[in-house]
Amino acid sequence: MDELREAVREFAADHVAPLGEHPPADRFRAAFAAAARMGLTGVLIPQEYGGGGGSQLDNAVIAEELGAVDAGFAAALNLSATVPGLLLAAGTAEQRERWLPAAARGLILAGAMNEPSVAGSELFNPEPGPESGFRARAVRVGDGWRLDGAKAPWVTNAGVADAYIVFARTAWDRPGATSTSAFWVPADAEGLTVGPRSDLLGLRGGRHAEVVLDGVRVPDDALIGPEDGALPLLATSTPGMAVGLAAVFVGVARAALEQTLAFVRERRSWGRPLIDHQAVALQVADMEIEVRQARLLVTDAAAVVDGARLRTRRSPCRRPRRGPSRRRSPTPHARSGCTEPPG
Ligand SMILES: Cc1cc2nc3c(=O)[nH]c(=O)nc-3n(C[C@H](O)[C@H](O)[C@H](O)COP(=O)(O)OP(=O)(O)OC[C@H]3O[C@@H](n4cnc5c(N)ncnc54)[C@H](O)[C@@H]3O)c2cc1C
Repeated sequence: MDELREAVREFAADHVAPLGEHPPADRFRAAFAAAARMGLTGVLIPQEYGGGGGSQLDNAVIAEELGAVDAGFAAALNLSATVPGLLLAAGTAEQRERWLPAAARGLILAGAMNEPSVAGSELFNPEPGPESGFRARAVRVGDGWRLDGAKAPWVTNAGVADAYIVFARTAWDRPGATSTSAFWVPADAEGLTVGPRSDLLGLRGGRHAEVVLDGVRVPDDALIGPEDGALPLLATSTPGMAVGLAAVFVGVARAALEQTLAFVRERRSWGRPLIDHQAVALQVADMEIEVRQARLLVTDAAAVVDGARLRTRRSPCRRPRRGPSRRRSPTPHARSGCTEPPG
């Protein structure tokens, strides 16, 4: 087991397992802060902004280990750790300086996009007008924006987040795909309210709720990326989020396998442990194969995202670092900022 996997496994046992279902906000925040102190929340943030400078592969290892203990907490942390990808992809230098170091220190982030009564796939509806695409609206007022609308009760980290990336329409006369923009909205912004915690079938270690925007005012520099440009931004920066989420569920599958193994080794039938019956052993072997296949798929997808990132930016593996790093990442691999050994 590599150093990162081992460290996160220990962290999950100490800080995440005791959370249980529906932890109160203060306990959730305390566990999140402990993860931040370990460098888990900022693993994908470059070292120049105080992050770990790690790879999607590192994030997948973190997500799997947390997911094996609590998928809700793991998904919450994955979301917060990958949302800064929006700023890395399209934030101004000033926005990066302002928000990335805080994110690396453990700011809890949320992405508020999907809406009640609007299908998620509406983002791709080519029809113009308010009847297609999302309904939340952003209107220029003075030297800033006014946001109005409501987001579905699925918003991960709603109620514990320090800031929300809100997606809203900046025009009606074009399809949602070319008229949606992203805004940084602090949790304490006047007019932003969060609904009651959603009671989901699973993921109960995390928090999900509706987010309502009622005349929320944000300055002009809250706009992330180009006006109307949220869709291309999502396309370039969210694959890492999806890969991390997939890794969370590899963790869930692995935990199921581990519990199965413990049971079939302990439970006896006809004078021997269940695992010694070939029919049972074959089923467990199939489970193991499926878990490993899933992990390989996730690893492959993470490498693709890392490769894409390294192609679009100069590789940190070949670039001398500017200035000393302000914090240490959990692994030498993450510290190198390389997805492959430096050559
Ligand atoms: C645990 C959880 C956490 C979430 N966290 C967040 C979050 O943090 N932020 C956020 O904004 N959202 C969040 N969501 C919302 C999530 O992203 C959406 O639920 C997702 O995008 C799917 O959209 P939908 O539920 O509106 O499904 P729909 O888009 O309504 O789809 C419903 C079904 O219809 C099918 N369908 C839809 N349109 C078409 C079409 N045109 N042609 C053929 N088939 C179609 C779909 O494949 C699907 O089977 C979360 C959801 C869950 C369950």
